[in-house]
Amino acid sequence: MPEVESIPEAKQRVRQQIADGADGIKIFANSVERNSTLTMPLELAQAIVSEAHAAHKPVFAHVANDDGIEVALKSGVDILAHTTPNGSPWSSSLVQQMTSTHTALTPTLTLWDEELKGHAAPDDAEQWKRKAVDQLRTFWQAGGQVLFGPDIGYIQHYDTTEEFALMSRAGMNFPKILAALTTNPAQRFGYSKHSGRIAKRMDADLVVLNRDPERDITALADVRYTIRAGKIIYSKK
Ligand SMILES: [Zn+2]
Repeated sequence: MPEVESIPEAKQRVRQQIADGADGIKIFANSVERNSTLTMPLELAQAIVSEAHAAHKPVFAHVANDDGIEVALKSGVDILAHTTPNGSPWSSSLVQQMTSTHTALTPTLTLWDEELKGHAAPDDAEQWKRKAVDQLRTFWQAGGQVLFGPDIGYIQHYDTTEEFALMSRAGMNFPKILAALTTNPAQRFGYSKHSGRIAKRMDADLVVLNRDPERDITALADVRYTIRAGKIIYSKK
């Protein structure tokens, strides 16, 4: 058995991370290891979530399958960091549970190509991708809140073209994908009074594109300028 952190230790670590400036906490609700899947004890997950929520910080969860999703939902996690294509397809009752607990999803559909690189046959990788896309479709069609974003910091895949293409393959149209980039995260993270929309007195944080994303969704990855607080911080050469 791997060592499991005690509840007081875990709570102390959450407090320390928040004191050190963390904007959110992420748990591994469950994880596929070499020969088995490790699932976080529910009481431990609940303790971490309640400690983070006491400090008004959101909690994200890495989930590997239905067991991990159950721990995430029962402990009150706010955001699932990605889908679970190595688990079973998401049933409508599972997705209903997600929406009734207001759990959001960051699809991170591009993750699976990177994760399976060198480990799986191209057909398997394609099947994982299809499953992930189906899970996203079930989720948003049930009214689940989608937050655009890459879950992971350990890969060097910075181009988001494929992510937008896959979200669109899951049936999300331009206004829905745009909301996942703008109004949804602003609402979820408590910034909607000053961010997420282009309007008077809102933050001058803007992205200017080279092409029209309403005609081709991958244009969202074709950035001409990024403007932060009114200043151009990125400009395509
Ligand atoms: Zn993860």
